[in-house]
Amino acid sequence: MTALRIAGGRVYDPASGLDGVVRDICIDAGRIVADVPPDATAIDAGGMVVMPGGVDIHSHVASGSVNLARRLLPEEHDADPALPPGLLSGQPQSRSGTGGTVPSTFTTGYRYAGLGYTTVFDAAVAPLAARTSHAEFDDTPIVDGGFFVLMGNDEYLLRLIAAGEQAQARDYAAWLLGAAGGYAIKVVNPGGVELWKRGVRARTGLDTPIGSARVTPRAILETLVGASEALGLPHATHIHCNDLGVPGNVATTIESMRAVDGRRAHFTHLQFHSYAATDKGGWQSGARELIEYVNAHPEVSVDVGQVMFGPVTTLTADGPVEYLLHKSSGRKWVNLDIELETGCGIVPYTFKEKAAVSALQWAIGLELFLLAVDPWRVVLSTDHPNGGSFLAYPELIRLLMDRAYRDERLARVNQTLIAGSALADGIAREYTLNEIAIVTRAGPARLLGLRQKGHLGIGADADVTVYAPDPDFSRMFATPRFVVKGGVLVVEEGQLRRAPAGKRLHVRPGFDAAVERGLRNFFEKYATVSFDNYPVGSLRDAPYKGSGVI
Ligand SMILES: [Zn+2]
Repeated sequence: MTALRIAGGRVYDPASGLDGVVRDICIDAGRIVADVPPDATAIDAGGMVVMPGGVDIHSHVASGSVNLARRLLPEEHDADPALPPGLLSGQPQSRSGTGGTVPSTFTTGYRYAGLGYTTVFDAAVAPLAARTSHAEFDDTPIVDGGFFVLMGNDEYLLRLIAAGEQAQARDYAAWLLGAAGGYAIKVVNPGGVELWKRGVRARTGLDTPIGSARVTPRAILETLVGASEALGLPHATHIHCNDLGVPGNVATTIESMRAVDGRRAHFTHLQFHSYAATDKGGWQSGARELIEYVNAHPEVSVDVGQVMFGPVTTLTADGPVEYLLHKSSGRKWVNLDIELETGCGIVPYTFKEKAAVSALQWAIGLELFLLAVDPWRVVLSTDHPNGGSFLAYPELIRLLMDRAYRDERLARVNQTLIAGSALADGIAREYTLNEIAIVTRAGPARLLGLRQKGHLGIGADADVTVYAPDPDFSRMFATPRFVVKGGVLVVEEGQLRRAPAGKRLHVRPGFDAAVERGLRNFFEKYATVSFDNYPVGSLRDAPYKGSGVI
C-alpha cells in the first residue's frame, strides 16, 4: 500500500459538494489525504470521471439462503464458469468460481470490485446461520462487507412483546446483533412469516394478531424501530413490509410508514411494495402515491429494488411470498424453517419484457427513481439477485441517465398494465452524474451511517472508482478503468490486478446483561444449539462505532 495520486479527473463527490470539479485525489496508508509527495505513484485521470467506491445497501451475497440457492442452481454453474483473474504476483491465490445469478463467493468479490463497488451489505441473515455468513464474507475478496440480522418473526422477540417487555426486547435485539456479528436490524414481513408457519394462509394486516393480541406487525415494527433508535445504531431498522408482491399492497406499505411516523426507518425494495389494485383486484402502478409519501417524509429512506429483464433468483426470508411464486410460476422451490427464528424461500424466476406483470414492475421501479425528489433517500438496488443481478446496475444507470434509450426500451415492453402510468405518460428527467454518485455511493453510505465511506473528503477510506466517459452509460459504468480499495489499486486499466481481503462491518451495542438469564433458559428448553455456542465470538475487525444520522 503506497501513496497514490489520482491526477486531474473530474471529481463527483456529492457529500463534499464537488460536482465534476477537476482536482487531484491523494491517498496514503489507505485514506484520502490532502497531498502526497511529488514522487508518489500517479494515475493520469485527465478527462475521466472520479467517484467514491460504490456502496450496496441491499444485496444477497453471503448467507445460508444464498448458499442454498447456489446448490439449487447447478445449471448456472455450468453456463457461466468464471476463470481465476490474472492477479499480479505476490497477491493471494486467485480463485476460479461460477457466475450466473448467484455467483460463488470469490467471483462475487471480483465482480463487485470490477464494477467499482467496494462495500456490500447482505440484507438478510438468520442469526442461527451467522457463522456461515462470516465464513462466506471471509471468502469474498476486496469488498468490505456486513449484514443485517433478521428479527420480527423470532419466537423470543414475539414472547417479549406479548409480555409487554419493551426494554428487554431492546436488550435482546442488542445481544442478538452482537452474537451474530451483524450491522443492523432487518425485519421481513413482520409476524407474517411466523403466522404462515403456523398454517395461516390469509394476508397479514398491520393489526393481525400473531398468537397474542399484543403481538401484531404494527407492534413488531414499533419495537424494532424503537430499538434501533434507542441503541443508536448507525443504520435505521431495515424494513421489508408485509404483503410483498400483491396487488393493492401500496396501502400496507403506506400504513407501515405511518406506523413508525416521525422515526428513522429504511423501507427496502420499495418497487415490490408499490402495487395499486384495479376495481377487480388487477395490477396497477401505485408508485406515484407511494413516492409522494416518501418525498414528504424526510425520516423515511428507501432503496428501489428495480426489476431488470432476464433470469433472476428470488430468495427471501419471506417464505409465504416464495410459496405463492412457486405456485404461480411452477418453478423449482426451496422453503424451510430456520428454527424459531425466521423463514427462507428460494424460487428461480425470469422477468420478461413481453410479460404484463414483469413490464409493470420494471416501470414502477423507474417511476420511483424518476419521481423521487431527494436522491439521498431513494437509493439504487435491484435487491440482487431478486429483481436482477448487481451486474445489471450499469444498464439501470443508463435507463436513469438516458431518456431516449429509456423510451426506446419502454416501447418494447408489454403495454397492458402500464397504460396511464406516470412512465407511460412520459417523464423527461435524466439523472446527472452527480445524482448517480448519490444513489450508488454517497446516499447509501450516509443511510448506513458509514462516516468514512461514500465520499472523498480527508480521512475517508481510500475507496475510489475512475470511469472513462462514454455516451453509452451502461458501458461506462460496467468497465471502470481504475478502482482503488482501501488504498490498494485493485483494477488497473480495466483489469483486476489485486485482491486484498475486505473488512467486516459489524456493531456490538451494549445491553443489560440480565437479558441473558431468560435467554439461557429459552435455549436450554427449545434450541438445538446451546446458548454458549450460539454467538459467533470475536471477529478480526473491531466493531464499528459510528451511530445515527451523518
Ligand atoms: Zn432483499
